Amino acid sequence: MLNPTVVVFPYGEINISSQLLLYKTHLNHTYIVTEETPFHPVSHIWPDHPADRGELIIDEQIFTVTDCVVGAIDRTGELFIGADIPVKREEAGWQFVVVHQIDALIELRPSQTVMLRVDKDYQDSLSRAHSGAHLAALALNKVLHQDYWRKQPDRNDELGHHHFHRYAEETSFVSPDTCIDTYRLGKTLRKRGLNSDDVVTNLTVIEALVNQQLAIWLVTQAEIKMVCKGPYLTDSRYWTINLDATEICMPCGGTHINSLAQLISLTVQLKLDQAGQIIMTTQTKATKAA
Ligand SMILES: [Zn+2]
Repeated sequence: MLNPTVVVFPYGEINISSQLLLYKTHLNHTYIVTEETPFHPVSHIWPDHPADRGELIIDEQIFTVTDCVVGAIDRTGELFIGADIPVKREEAGWQFVVVHQIDALIELRPSQTVMLRVDKDYQDSLSRAHSGAHLAALALNKVLHQDYWRKQPDRNDELGHHHFHRYAEETSFVSPDTCIDTYRLGKTLRKRGLNSDDVVTNLTVIEALVNQQLAIWLVTQAEIKMVCKGPYLTDSRYWTINLDATEICMPCGGTHINSLAQLISLTVQLKLDQAGQIIMTTQTKATKAA
């Protein structure tokens, strides 16, 4: 029986050797699964955080990883990739794995060694944006909490503020040093108690307050830690940080920076699009390496 892929990216590992678990060729691609990987794959269910980039070194030949996705292996050893996966994560008899795609047809030997090397600069730029987006969402919830709800909704966030982000978020896209979140201000949200019209009217003020809050958090240089319930891709992982003297712990499968000291700036821009949705663009800038 195979195990799910052991993932080492939560620990900042970017360069490892591992044994081949299985591979499959299709058209001009070879899909390679190893026992362990430092590559963060894109999720087919919630594709907010793009796949890592990097290289595989096989028998001293270097191959660019052109995509990295989640795969699932059934009892017979058949590999299903991304959207072709027919089952949910808990399905008995299935193992979820990280699939590295290279654009070449190659043959591999059972259990042979593969070297995996992640493009650290690219991964770091995504990690900054993803951590920045979590902070931006918490700041937005905090700013809206006081003056923009006329009744209390069921859900509060980790800081005890009404969870606008959870209720209204439609999509989220992480890219290098930028994350774009889209929020829908629909009827449901209004029913839950949000004064949507006030939010729209005061968007510029809200943006300024969110940026003020982010600046306050940034100077704390708070540590960020990923807490993993186990070594495998499918084990729950949590993003943790201490803000406003509160231990925050939220489920997140992405890659992250390990301290706010890694950011020299973190800002958001709030805009209304033509469909009446709020677009929050979070931008991060790396502290120059010493
Ligand atoms: Zn996340």
